[in-house]
Amino acid sequence: MLDAGRHPNIEILAYSEVESVKGRAGAFTAKVRRKARFINEELCNACGDCMAKCPRKVPDDFDMHLRDRRAVYLYFAQGIPAVATIDKDHCTYFEKGKCRLCERVCQKEAVDFEQKDKILNLSVDAIVVATGLDVFDPTPMTQYGYGRIKNVITGLEYERLINATGPTGGHLYRPSDGTLAKKVAYIQCVGSRDLNYCKHCSSVCCMYAIKDAMLAREHDVEANSHIFHTDFRNVGKWFQEYEQKGKDLYGINYVRGRVGEVQEDKDGNPVVWYEDTQKREVKSLTFDLVVLSVAAMPAKGSEELAKILGIELDDSGFVRVRAGEPADTSRPGIFSCGFCNGPVDIPESVSQASAAAMRVAETILPQVKVASG
Ligand SMILES: Cc1cc2nc3c(=O)[nH]c(=O)nc-3n(C[C@H](O)[C@H](O)[C@H](O)COP(=O)(O)OP(=O)(O)OC[C@H]3O[C@@H](n4cnc5c(N)ncnc54)[C@H](O)[C@@H]3O)c2cc1C
Ligand code: SF4
Ligand code: SF4
Repeated sequence: MLDAGRHPNIEILAYSEVESVKGRAGAFTAKVRRKARFINEELCNACGDCMAKCPRKVPDDFDMHLRDRRAVYLYFAQGIPAVATIDKDHCTYFEKGKCRLCERVCQKEAVDFEQKDKILNLSVDAIVVATGLDVFDPTPMTQYGYGRIKNVITGLEYERLINATGPTGGHLYRPSDGTLAKKVAYIQCVGSRDLNYCKHCSSVCCMYAIKDAMLAREHDVEANSHIFHTDFRNVGKWFQEYEQKGKDLYGINYVRGRVGEVQEDKDGNPVVWYEDTQKREVKSLTFDLVVLSVAAMPAKGSEELAKILGIELDDSGFVRVRAGEPADTSRPGIFSCGFCNGPVDIPESVSQASAAAMRVAETILPQVKVASG
């Protein structure tokens, strides 16, 4: 991200949305709305003085609502560009006409309550869609107790808890009472491979659950993990070895069996009921924390964006790419890469991005046309 932020040929239009696209490959016009952030991007140096004074607390989306941010905020510490944004929907000044504390403390005079959305009409030769993923909300799957049992969380919430920049500084404090979670269960395929919710395999969850269980042990030698899986789909290079390493070096217990229900005991501990399909027995185990590996799906708003761009989606909502040209959408000159095409991990997303960049180069400069099947 830093490289992109500094690159002389890359202009990042953050906090912006594409509203329409006209034209054809080599001659598109994209209408882009640059949303008002009420902060002058040229002046703000992300010092944080405004956030320190802002009285209005709002649940922090980036930290999965595990802590609060202020109405004036940085989406996340490493974000590019590093500039504050005022959340108009929660700012006391926009609500009640009084406050403007942020404006008073900002030494760069970057706060601008008069800022308006700007519309840009960009002439572009090609477009790359890279809108990625959102995660499934497991609340409707009441058998897992998410939203009812405090110590049942999602994989993305866990990622924030175990992260040194996250709400607990990387300590696995469980939500109910703030004690350190030592016994952790990971439940796979929550919403994935399920005709009632997402029929596709989310593909990355088997590997990230193993990674997460390893991280728990790296943080705490007493951490003990069980991963309840349908079947492991660790199909990449060295993935099988990674799974074995999890068992041999990190003591992870792999249990083949779909979980039927999670209950809560009187101390707030989640109790996992499952069928051990290898031993053909119904059993239960009590944990400090349960992590649901929820389905990963196309980003919210993908359908609207597809209409704006005039591209087709498949029946799971991912971008339909052309057979033999995996970076090409159904509309010439519009390419796509990463999770918006279907479940892929980071290395695969990065190589798809290179493929899309290559196809863009071929569109812009026909003389670089390379053999492509
Ligand atoms: C809990 C969890 C753990 C994971 N752990 C790992 C791991 O350890 N290793 C690994 O390799 N992979 C992991 N993955 C998978 C990894 O997250 C994906 O492979 C990767 O994020 C895909 O990158 P992407 O750029 O395609 O999409 P994203 O990372 O989702 O980025 C898409 C970007 O597009 C933006 N966007 C969306 N819609 C619009 C729009 N309409 N206009 C403008 N911008 C938009 C989004 O805000 C976002 O910034 C994990 C996934 C999950 C859910
Ligand atoms: S708006 Fe002003 S006070 Fe707030 S982060 Fe930017 S420079 Fe600092
Ligand atoms: S004006 Fe809004 S953003 Fe600024 S300090 Fe007050 S509540 Fe916070």
